[in-house]
Amino acid sequence: MALKFCTLSSSSKGNSIFVGTSNVNILIDAGISCRRIEQSLQSRGISPHKITDIFITHEHTDHVKGAALFSRKYGANIHATTLTVKKIQSMAKKDSELLPIEKVNYIKPNEKIVIQDLQLYSFPIPHDAEDPVGYTMFDGKSKISIATDLGCIPEKLCQIMKNSDIVLLESNHDVQMVKDGTYPQVLKKRILGNYGHLSNHIAGNFLSTIISPKLKHVFLGHLSPENNTPRQALETIRATLQNNGFPEKLPFDLHVAPAEEPGALITLE
Ligand SMILES: [Zn+2]
Ligand SMILES: [Zn+2]
Repeated sequence: MALKFCTLSSSSKGNSIFVGTSNVNILIDAGISCRRIEQSLQSRGISPHKITDIFITHEHTDHVKGAALFSRKYGANIHATTLTVKKIQSMAKKDSELLPIEKVNYIKPNEKIVIQDLQLYSFPIPHDAEDPVGYTMFDGKSKISIATDLGCIPEKLCQIMKNSDIVLLESNHDVQMVKDGTYPQVLKKRILGNYGHLSNHIAGNFLSTIISPKLKHVFLGHLSPENNTPRQALETIRATLQNNGFPEKLPFDLHVAPAEEPGALITLE
C-alpha cells in the first residue's frame, strides 16, 4: 500500500494536486489548463488516463480552469458542492467550459466519500466563494490534508488536519508586503480579511498546532507572486515555529510547492 502526492501547480495563478493510492488516482482541483495537467502528470510518470476523479475546492478560476475539458476528455468524475457546481456553470462563457453534468457528484461539507481504497473527507473553509471546502485523504494508513484559500483558521481545523503525514497549507502572503504593495485598497482588504487568504504568520502559528510524530512533509502553497516569495514564506514559517518552541532542525521536511510547475512526487509506503 502506498499513498502518492504531487503538486502540479500551486499559486494564485493555478492549483492542481495529484493524489494516488494502489487503486485510485485523483486530482484535487484542476485550475490549470487541461494541457498543462496532462504535461505535468506525464512529467511525473503518471498517465492522465488513470485519473478517475477530480475533487473541486471552490469555483475560483485558479481551481477549476481545466476541470471541464479534462473531465470530458478522460471521463473523470467531478465532485463539488452543489453551490460550487452552480457557480461554475453560471460562469462558463462557452459550452466547453460547462462541467459535463452526468459526471458531477454533488458533495456536502463534512462529508466522507469513499473511492475504493481512498477515503476523502470534505471540510468547510472560510473564503469568499459559494461553498468552499478543503479535503483530507486517508488510505487506511497515511493521511494527507489540503487547506488553501482560507481567510482565517476555523475552530475545528486543527482537529481535522492533525495526525497527517503530508500537509499542504496555504502560506499566501506577507502582511507587510500586502500593505506596502500596489494593490487597490479594496483588494488588500479582501486578501487580509477573514474570507481571503492565509498569511505566512498565521500559517506558521496554525502549523505549530498540527505537528505530530506522523508528520513527514509540509508544503507551503498558493503563494501570492506579488505579496510573497518562497524565501519569505520559509523564513517566516521557520521563525514562527521556533517562537512556538519547535527546534531549528524540524522533524519533518518543509517545502514550498512550486508555483507553476510540478513538484516532487512523494510516496508514503
Ligand atoms: Zn485560489
Ligand atoms: Zn479562491
